[in-house]
Amino acid sequence: MMAQYLALKAQAEGCLLFYRMGDFFELFFDDARAASQTLDIALTSRGEHGGQQVPMCGVPVHAAEGYLARLIRAGHRVAIAEQIETPEQAKKRGGAKALVTRDIVRFVTAGTLTEEALLEPRRANVLAAVCVVGARVGLAACDISTGQMDLEDCAPDALGAALARIGASELIVSDAAPAHGLAMPGAAAQRPARGFDSARGETLLRDLHGVATLDAFGAFSRPMLAAAAGLIDYLDHVGRGRLPLLLPPQARIGDHTMAMDEATRASLEVTVASGGGRRGSLIEAVDRCVTGAGARALAEDLSAPLTDIAMIRNRLELVSWLHDDPLLRGDLRATLRAAPDIGRAIGRVVAGRGSPRDLGQLRDGLREAAQLAYLLQAAGALPALADRLVPDLRGHGALVDLLARALVPAPPTERGQGGFIAEGYDAALDELRRMSGHSRRAIAALEAKYRDETGVAALKIRHNGVLGYFIEVPARHADRMMAPDSGFTHRQTMAGAVRFNALALHEEASRIAESGGHALAAEDQHFEDLTARVVALREAIARTAVALARFDVAAGLAERAAEGGWSLPRVVDEPVLAIAGGRHPVVETALMARGERFVANDCRLVPEDRLWLIGGPNMGGKSTFLRQNALIVLLAQAGSFVPAEAATIGVVDRLFSRVGASDNLARGRSTFMVEMVETAAILAQAGPRSFVILDEVGRGTSTYDGLALAWAVVEAVHETNRCRCLFATHYHELTRLAESCTALSLRHVRAREWKGDLVLLHELAEGPADKSYGLAVARLAGVSPGVIRRAKAVLDRLEKGRAATGGLAAGLDDLPLFAAAIEAAEDKVDALREKLNVLDIDSLSPRAALDVLYELKREANS
Ligand code: ATP
Repeated sequence: MMAQYLALKAQAEGCLLFYRMGDFFELFFDDARAASQTLDIALTSRGEHGGQQVPMCGVPVHAAEGYLARLIRAGHRVAIAEQIETPEQAKKRGGAKALVTRDIVRFVTAGTLTEEALLEPRRANVLAAVCVVGARVGLAACDISTGQMDLEDCAPDALGAALARIGASELIVSDAAPAHGLAMPGAAAQRPARGFDSARGETLLRDLHGVATLDAFGAFSRPMLAAAAGLIDYLDHVGRGRLPLLLPPQARIGDHTMAMDEATRASLEVTVASGGGRRGSLIEAVDRCVTGAGARALAEDLSAPLTDIAMIRNRLELVSWLHDDPLLRGDLRATLRAAPDIGRAIGRVVAGRGSPRDLGQLRDGLREAAQLAYLLQAAGALPALADRLVPDLRGHGALVDLLARALVPAPPTERGQGGFIAEGYDAALDELRRMSGHSRRAIAALEAKYRDETGVAALKIRHNGVLGYFIEVPARHADRMMAPDSGFTHRQTMAGAVRFNALALHEEASRIAESGGHALAAEDQHFEDLTARVVALREAIARTAVALARFDVAAGLAERAAEGGWSLPRVVDEPVLAIAGGRHPVVETALMARGERFVANDCRLVPEDRLWLIGGPNMGGKSTFLRQNALIVLLAQAGSFVPAEAATIGVVDRLFSRVGASDNLARGRSTFMVEMVETAAILAQAGPRSFVILDEVGRGTSTYDGLALAWAVVEAVHETNRCRCLFATHYHELTRLAESCTALSLRHVRAREWKGDLVLLHELAEGPADKSYGLAVARLAGVSPGVIRRAKAVLDRLEKGRAATGGLAAGLDDLPLFAAAIEAAEDKVDALREKLNVLDIDSLSPRAALDVLYELKREANS
């Protein structure tokens, strides 16, 4: 057995091997150690190998899915070795001691899951493959749970942004890529470079889709085809020769989507919030989809906003149409809610992992799709996008009828137990079931008859997996059954009961077993036939799934817009950004939950006033304002209404968002280094159609360096990049740039001091901030009065010095900074002053006055 195990293990490089033994999957050696730790299950041992105990742990087969999910989530890959013959077959083949033959039937990896239980319904599950061809990088991305496949190529330095957009759960890369200097995330698995061959990629895709040329699907470059070859090669390996559902590839052309790099996505928290989850992200604030497929499509839209005005307007037109017709929207959403996830169901069926339940889901989903088409058509003239999608919803009538006739209303997930083919579909099957039903009734009648005959009222006919049917009586009545002519034969004696057989019972039981076996075989054959029918229509079904998802996205966005009073943006070609009464969707929702009001603000960037320098107190709302405008642009170009009273958005080709002083220690970069690397990227890439938000750039270094850098960056953005830009800063000195930069203007977030307290108005106003409120905010935050007083003293001196010499630090020359002694002395003076203040001198006796003087002197000298 060990030899067999080790041979299989050798084929499962980089994977934990699940080795089937009866009702368990067992793991051995290091696999057992790793799995027992991740799954928190007992580590035992079994036999010896090479003089050592063999560590072992196991999981029951019926619960394996849950354990698999946890292992995959923890970053493992798993190979499943099944018994591919029964113990009886093994005995027949090789005698009593023969070992059951096992083989790896499947590899389970994060990017190749199709099981409903292992996938998140609202998240796509993407496998991506990367290779280098010449000076370009080829990228193939595929969600095998639905079959969607995208191919693209890019320059090596754009790979990071592309991977950030795709958000793959598993990445494979040609082992030649590192030699080309391509930096890949550590989790990427290397595959042999020979699998990434563009000519083979083309042949594979042509064969897969039965076409003579790929032209009909689009134009594919060599790097794209090479990446596709690597991807298909890997899928073939993982599925042990059985490919999952792969739809015709789509060439993703960069020009159609807005470029956003990884840092921008992270800082805008598009699909993942800074805490790591969906909570607090843009998508959470926007997603009102009623199906998992809709939510996945929305995530894709938000991750890749469009730049093509006609396409954006198409999407917006559909959302607007549904926004204006709440009744129709309600009907559509109710229909969609009833539709199961047919994209994933067809994915499982094609991958050979389908169940009767999947067929049932396809029946119900396709039926709902037809209903949706009916509703839409009845609504009159359709927007262009709806008009284009409606035909994809229809055309499955024959298949739905077939599945409706063939299947019971709620088919089970288990195929082996039968019971999913409906009555009336197959007369022969019905007859088999009738026979077995008849025999069951006959057995019930036998029980009554045996009770009568023997007079044992406690007699029962029971059934178990080992004995089949048997008669059971309490031990004290066993004698009555043992009479020579009773017709009962003894089978087993238990603690309190004795079990018997009888000829008539045996005959009925055989009939049940036989007809049951035939019935199961018949159902299995029907399953195969129905599956084949479905598989033949896979592309049309996948198109229907896509159309359903698109309607869900549009109806969900319309719902969100209606709920939040959002407005239809006007998308134009000119480089302008005019937003009236804009709000931040996530912050607004958070404030509303606390019963607070969000203050809406305008933004108006035009070519002659395209850079706003924004000052004002900490916590004043600068970052919120910057981000809300970026999010409004992103939403509009993804085809959504926006949280604003009105918005005119000149299409943005690249969106950048940078926040100073956020570090990426995981990647080994310090705060300031990250800030500068990201700033460098903006200066190199932003153009006149880009939109950039920069939040406190230059903060991570010394004041002079930071100020100087921020100054130079603003100038460069203004003079060279000439993009629309919002720049938030605490450097008051930067306001002087307004004198030299003609397309730059100053704004500030308003605040007021009222009865010594700071009131933040969160309102944007023209002009520079009148003063900074850092100390007031620190007091608000609970910094101790002693520290605030000390800071105030330092500030006064700094400001005096600056007024005298124009130099920032000049005032510090005679100020021993960080002098704890001075601070303590000042505290002492304060204490003495306090004491004197409370003294009522007129009421003191001379003696008491003297005592006070002595005490003060002692304290002053202590
Ligand atoms: P800092 O300079 O410290 O980074 P900031 O000026 O960037 O501060 P934000 O982080 O944008 O300030 O906002 C601070 C908090 O103020 C937010 O978390 C939010 O609760 C509130 N806030 C911001 N903008 C608004 C607004 N327009 N209306 C209401 N509350 C707001």
